[in-house]
Amino acid sequence: LGGSITRALQQMSNATIIDEKVLNECLNEITRALLQSDVQFKLVRDMQNNIKKIVNLDHLAAGHNKRNIIHKAIFNELCKILDPGKPAFAPKKGKPSVVMFVGLQGSGKTTTCTKYAFYHQKKGWKPALVCADTFRAGAFDQLKQNATKAKIPFYGSYMESDPVKIAVEGVERFKKENCDLIIVDTSGRHKQEAALFEEMRQVSEAMKPDLVIFVMDSSIGQAAFDQAQAFKQSVAVGAVIITKMDGHAKGGGALSAVAATKSPVIFIGTGEHMDEFEIFDVKPFVSRLLGMGDWSGFMDKIHEVVPMDQQPELLQKLSEGNFTMRIMYEQYQNILKMGPIGQVFSRLPGFSAELMPKGCEKESQAKIKRYMYMMDSMTNEELDSTNPKLMNESRIMRIARGSGRQVRDVMEMLEEYKQLAKKIWSQLKGLKIPKKGEMSA
Ligand code: GDP
Ligand code: MG
Repeated sequence: LGGSITRALQQMSNATIIDEKVLNECLNEITRALLQSDVQFKLVRDMQNNIKKIVNLDHLAAGHNKRNIIHKAIFNELCKILDPGKPAFAPKKGKPSVVMFVGLQGSGKTTTCTKYAFYHQKKGWKPALVCADTFRAGAFDQLKQNATKAKIPFYGSYMESDPVKIAVEGVERFKKENCDLIIVDTSGRHKQEAALFEEMRQVSEAMKPDLVIFVMDSSIGQAAFDQAQAFKQSVAVGAVIITKMDGHAKGGGALSAVAATKSPVIFIGTGEHMDEFEIFDVKPFVSRLLGMGDWSGFMDKIHEVVPMDQQPELLQKLSEGNFTMRIMYEQYQNILKMGPIGQVFSRLPGFSAELMPKGCEKESQAKIKRYMYMMDSMTNEELDSTNPKLMNESRIMRIARGSGRQVRDVMEMLEEYKQLAKKIWSQLKGLKIPKKGEMSA
């Protein structure tokens, strides 16, 4: 997606005259890209019309940075769609709140209930889990297992088949036990769809939750809007959580879910594990959707591995085109230190696919180690240079011999370095580097 939007904007900034035709072509290109990212057709069309109203063709012709103006307009429009105008109900620590989770089977409800509980527990809350899914065999076991692992109290039954009864009993019990966050997991399937929505209505009516959270799988594509709307029509959905954002989906469905429920996204799920759960932040999400890279998330992660006082310098160097082999070596060291790189560098488009493609982590690690051995045979001058001409044939042969490798291995590493340097340059060129203290902005 990012690629095609960038391309569309590039084409436009290359055009000497921006007339209605050029603008339309550019917008059509962007429309296609957003649709591929599962943004709902109607939202895309409305956005397109809004942008046409906002973007003043006269201004564009007068030599402004056209690309920036359009990019900013798209960015703002997408952010607007994700902001329903009012925040979700926020439970208060120490005061009992009941939170009901709804969503189709397989969307990630049970997993997300535990993540949500665990997240708050770490912050000093007293959460509890109630399993009101009596339809699916094994639902209670799954919740029980999750809850036990996280040491969170739970309630459910193997015998009782009435979800309303369990929900009400569970909520009562945990209120007595002074839990301040009572989380109710529900069923996601029924023999008939209408029965599921009726059940949700009844459970909600009986226990009067303070907040209903709609859980949606990010990979459901264009079905997002209708699904979200169907739940909203039976219960008072007040917040959305998008799951499986670690997969291939770009998450355009999030826009549909917000539009259909008029509720904000509050968290996203980024993996199967309990702590793969993040607060949702509109701007980084839209940046990622547009392929600009998620800077704030990247900054947070980079804190953990690169000493704080080195970060601005590193980014500064990269943005000036000074990506040396030594920097590559140091980044490889960091990568090996922090494990699966996918999670860190996937936020920076261009890095992840190159360094550690999903599913090939083992091979990539071996490759990184191989590269590092070869770099160990390089001179300081070679490591600190950005000039590939230093690497002549005889040096390449020396490095291969010194590291017990073939010439073609060295060539492969140099090629990878060149490609990476090109990518990093094209993305960080002219980036404004935050100063110390503004890092997480
Ligand atoms: P439910 O039917 O809505 O309760 O969904 P479950 O919680 O049982 O989840 C269905 C599947 O999705 C399980 O295999 C989960 O491990 C998986 N899952 C849930 N959330 C995520 C996520 O954020 N990322 C990934 N990769 N898998 C997830
Ligand atoms: Mg479940």
